[in-house]
Amino acid sequence: MTSDMPQTLAHQDPALTPAAALATVPATASGTASGTASDTARAAVATAIPAGRSAATQPLCSVVGAQLPVPLVTGGTLPYANLDYAASAPALSAVAEHLATALPYYASVHRGAGYASQVSTALLENSRSCVARFVGARADDVVVFTRNTTDALNLLACAVPEDGGVLHLDVEHHANLLPWQRRGHTVLAAAPTIRDTLTALDVALAATPIALVAVTGASNVTGELLPVEQIARIAHQHGARIAVDAAQLAPHRRISLIESDLDYIAFSGHKLYAPYGSGALVGRRDWLDAAPAYLAGGGAVREVTTTDTVWAPAPARHEAGTPNVLGAAALAKACVTLAALGDATLESHESALRESLLSGLARRPEINLLRIWDDSADAIGVVAFTVAGYDAGLVAAYLSAEHAIGVRDGRFCAHPLLARLGPDGAVRASFGVGSALEDVHRLLSALDRLLDHGPAWVYERVDGRFAPIDDPRPFPDFADDAVGPASPCEASAF
Ligand code: PMP
Repeated sequence: MTSDMPQTLAHQDPALTPAAALATVPATASGTASGTASDTARAAVATAIPAGRSAATQPLCSVVGAQLPVPLVTGGTLPYANLDYAASAPALSAVAEHLATALPYYASVHRGAGYASQVSTALLENSRSCVARFVGARADDVVVFTRNTTDALNLLACAVPEDGGVLHLDVEHHANLLPWQRRGHTVLAAAPTIRDTLTALDVALAATPIALVAVTGASNVTGELLPVEQIARIAHQHGARIAVDAAQLAPHRRISLIESDLDYIAFSGHKLYAPYGSGALVGRRDWLDAAPAYLAGGGAVREVTTTDTVWAPAPARHEAGTPNVLGAAALAKACVTLAALGDATLESHESALRESLLSGLARRPEINLLRIWDDSADAIGVVAFTVAGYDAGLVAAYLSAEHAIGVRDGRFCAHPLLARLGPDGAVRASFGVGSALEDVHRLLSALDRLLDHGPAWVYERVDGRFAPIDDPRPFPDFADDAVGPASPCEASAF
């Protein structure tokens, strides 16, 4: 079946946020003053809290940008309710502080003779060890620093032996679909239950020789978790390896390559509270040592002549060019900070928020939750839904413009999954260690308001996206200055 075609606590950190730039956003003539908007939101939150729930759930960790004042189209500001962690999570304050400490020592790594170079090299290599510990790597596993999960899975796609097939489900993010479309791959359609999906996997692996099963640990659309240990067992019984796309899983659940017997894991710093451009691929050395260098260039080699090259073993083999030392350090610090929180704390915080959100959404028959499996028992803090009568893009624009709530809408880079689930777009709310119950209540209250009264502003489609008409909200100066006026050349490029 292999071919080129698929077969089937909010601690605000004022020094690190642009709060000052936004705090002075004036009320517009049509809008309300800042205090009034906040009071209205607070009153609405109070009515939206489901009976029997306490509002005590606070953020678990301090994140940069918590309480960011965000302007409303209707005037005034509200603290940002960031419910878009699944796309990119805010930096942990501990990560930002770590980088501020490291930055003065930043210098070239590996071959620099200077003191700062040696400190930076130690930082990079210690960061590698931290990441290895975070994912419970075996002693002989390799940690390759990458840009993100997409990069890590593309690297792995170049490392799977050429004659080996790859199997993945149809529920995957494009990052775990498209690299495999470039080579022999088999797509297994997920069954309505996880149980039947595992049975189908067993059957498929018995029928077709497969080198690698590539699966997501948690759906980026519905948050549902896959039992990766069981999948590993099935894969191994058939002589296949398993790679877990842990872009969503790693920020929410502890993972152990050793305990779960996983062969590879890929994840991104920017979803793990370390948005500094680093990710990682961790796993078995043999394929990575045998693979062609992912990038050809300095640092990946032992010896070069004008005609020939002796490549270094992994990880250097796949890290050509100057490494992102601070990105790696940020990722490592996030790993250490999350690990110190403990699984139970992470899970109970997240499940309180998720239960509150689900029970609030269930009150409204107009809201339909997306779900892949009838028998999925556990899920992370990612919830996708549609709102009858409203385009998902309009809902997201409304939540942002009138309530300072950030969510994601669309098909979430999971087109095959959305096609199977039905809607041509949905709204996704996602949260993490910087989230509080109040964020969830604000979302529920804003949805109530939309369903009961409609939007207060008028929205139009601009380049396929909904936006408030005559949007009066300014951007802070630093963003406009950094971008500058568009040149005629840039304008025509879009
Ligand atoms: N896999 C999953 C499950 C994801 O949610 C994402 C990001 N949305 C990716 C892979 C890709 O991550 P990145 O953009 O950081 O490469």
